[in-house]
Amino acid sequence: MTKDLKQKYDFEKGIPIMPANASAKYNKTSSWRLWKPIIDHSKCIKCKTCFAYCPHGAISWINGKPKIDYTFCKGCLICAEVCPVKCIGKEKEGN
Ligand code: SF4
Ligand code: SF4
Repeated sequence: MTKDLKQKYDFEKGIPIMPANASAKYNKTSSWRLWKPIIDHSKCIKCKTCFAYCPHGAISWINGKPKIDYTFCKGCLICAEVCPVKCIGKEKEGN
């Protein structure tokens, strides 16, 4: 994290303040994850819905298929929820 993006808090309300727009790329959120999404590429219809909906930009489109960057995936499982053919499963983190 760069110095200017250091986390700040609103001490009156005790909540973190977003330091900058699109700061997610500086924060490795994998340590938050309880569930790890797993794509079954044999069932994927390459619709790009997961790519479009991931709120963290953790899904890239590489060589014609989705690839999850687990350094930045925070395990919200929105990708699994929106996948039309339900080919994104989940594994408990740490197993
Ligand atoms: S679990 Fe959430 S953060 Fe991780 S790839 Fe899916 S939509 Fe993105
Ligand atoms: S939403 Fe599901 S079917 Fe569509 S590209 Fe992603 S993994 Fe493949």
